[in-house]
Amino acid sequence: MIVGKCIFHKGSIMSNGYGRIWQGDSHVPAHRIAYQKENGLIPQGFQIHHLCAIKLCINPQHLIALTRSDHQKAHIKRDGLKGITLIYSHATHCSKGHLLDGKNKRQRFCSTCKKQHQNEYTARNRELTNAKSNKWKQEHLEQHRLWNREYMRRKRATL
Ligand SMILES: [Zn+2]
Ligand SMILES: [Zn+2]
Ligand SMILES: [Zn+2]
Repeated sequence: MIVGKCIFHKGSIMSNGYGRIWQGDSHVPAHRIAYQKENGLIPQGFQIHHLCAIKLCINPQHLIALTRSDHQKAHIKRDGLKGITLIYSHATHCSKGHLLDGKNKRQRFCSTCKKQHQNEYTARNRELTNAKSNKWKQEHLEQHRLWNREYMRRKRATL
């Protein structure tokens, strides 16, 4: 049951259709702020669901906090099979908590996560390459010493 009328967010809008409010250093979805003002902090991992299905609505009475799986269930119940994909467009954050806005708007392909994975991969690769080349250097150092000694010996012999 939906109590009262929708209250619409007036201001800038996220690329996935939610209102957004600038909070010092980043944007925060307007409906999440509206929910928190009324109910306190949203527990980690919880998503805010619009009972009225209006993304720009910030009436706290139209908002409930659900776990990801309950959110999916709510959408399937309301929207049928479409609900499975709807939940991706209704998510405001990826599973790691990055805001889905601008180019970064699809939960399944969070570009902040992708970038992080790439950075981690590069760092790990660099470490591996360094470890390999260090091992190689150590193994060959002795060899180099022998070569050097041999070189010096020959040089001395030709003098
Ligand atoms: Zn509403
Ligand atoms: Zn929802
Ligand atoms: Zn992410």
